[in-house]
Amino acid sequence: MKTTIKETQEKLRSGKTSPKKVVSSFLSRIKERNKEINALLSVFENAQEEMEKKDKNLPLYGAVFVIKDNILIKGERCTAGSKILEHYIAPFDATVIEKIKEKGGVFIGKGNLDEFAMGSSTENSSFGPTKNPLNTQRVPGGSSGGPAAAVADKMCNAGIGSDTGGSIRQPAAFCGVVGFKPTYGTVSRSGVMSMASSFDQVGPFANSVEDAKIIFEAIQGKDYRDSVTSDLLRKKVKNKIKIGIPKEYFVKGIEEDIKKNIEKAIAKIKGSDFEIEEISLPHTEYALPAYEIIMASEVSANMARYDGIRYGLEFERPKAKTIEEAYLKNRGEGFGKEVKRRIILGTYSLSAGYYDAYYIKAQKIRSLIAEDFDKAFRKVDVILTPVTPTLPFKIGEKIEDPLSMHLSDIFTVTANLAGLPAISLPCGESKGLPVGAQILAKRFHEDILFFATEKFEKIWLNK
Ligand code: GLN
Repeated sequence: MKTTIKETQEKLRSGKTSPKKVVSSFLSRIKERNKEINALLSVFENAQEEMEKKDKNLPLYGAVFVIKDNILIKGERCTAGSKILEHYIAPFDATVIEKIKEKGGVFIGKGNLDEFAMGSSTENSSFGPTKNPLNTQRVPGGSSGGPAAAVADKMCNAGIGSDTGGSIRQPAAFCGVVGFKPTYGTVSRSGVMSMASSFDQVGPFANSVEDAKIIFEAIQGKDYRDSVTSDLLRKKVKNKIKIGIPKEYFVKGIEEDIKKNIEKAIAKIKGSDFEIEEISLPHTEYALPAYEIIMASEVSANMARYDGIRYGLEFERPKAKTIEEAYLKNRGEGFGKEVKRRIILGTYSLSAGYYDAYYIKAQKIRSLIAEDFDKAFRKVDVILTPVTPTLPFKIGEKIEDPLSMHLSDIFTVTANLAGLPAISLPCGESKGLPVGAQILAKRFHEDILFFATEKFEKIWLNK
């Protein structure tokens, strides 16, 4: 049985269990399963001693984390799933890591990911794909497939990922766990490797909404090392919640099984005291192309630092005769296909002549998407949608077809374009595979989001 942080915490505080028992059960699960699932790129054996040092009253006491391997833990290897950083050792702790330590949490390993968080299946990792623990023929989603699979497979009771276009919510949906992308600017990205900086956000994986909330409260807050962070979170919960269902999220391309499941979930909450209204987000169909252009443009700038001088395959440097050769060798051998594809697309859309036609146009669409949501949130408190158009697909099924791979982000990128908080919550299954529902709220209205999702969770899981 999966245990939540809350349950582990209570058992630890009442003496029903011990740090030794908690950590050793996770470690033995890792030993038994990780060879096959490949969720973890490194394992920390000292989590028990770390837990023993913590004050029992801290809010994250009993939480055992797998951290996506693009987030720095001082002194540990941090690869971003890329060959180019295979030997990179983190020189400092990311702010989220500092906060988790301060609030009583411990770390049991680093989670696999698509290279530099680019992908939707964790097949783009230079260290082999992660398998979905619920069906090992299938992908766990991505790019944070490692931490999602680790939580789903009981290798830990908490995870941290990053979400640029859906990388927390989509793997959470594919693995049947809770995944939360907070409002842009609520959690510091200091010590988190940048992918597309105007979208990147850090957030938790958990076994319950309550756990996701506990983790979020511990890691959020203004940080002078990340200038977009603020302390604007609202803490005034409304009692009566109105839910919007956007019709544009239930049209072409969505698998019948997903549609039916979400409709069933909506029918279940209709019977309780929620009001439901159909709404329209008219620019939805332009969201994915706009995301692709802006994301690739920012990726091309962020990847420039991996040049073999500042970061990269330093051991290649002495072999190169010129600086240019050193760059070419490092980046040519260090980066995988998908990263190269995005660098090329991004530099193209930022180049003179194409900048107006692509980049500026995409930014205009971004504003229209944000306006769509602003208008909708004048009428409703939260919006409910599917997380993905399909069930978890087979390993190898989409890897040679980047366009169809990118389509799996169609329902998640809008929250990043508009900076909104969004949760992916399990709501049943189909053919033995999990289905996720996504709930979005206004920026900084995590209060309403958690209030509503805790209620949905009870209704859907009959808790
Ligand atoms: N899957 C999306 C992409 O490939 C999102 C990635 C992410 O959120 N890091 O761009």
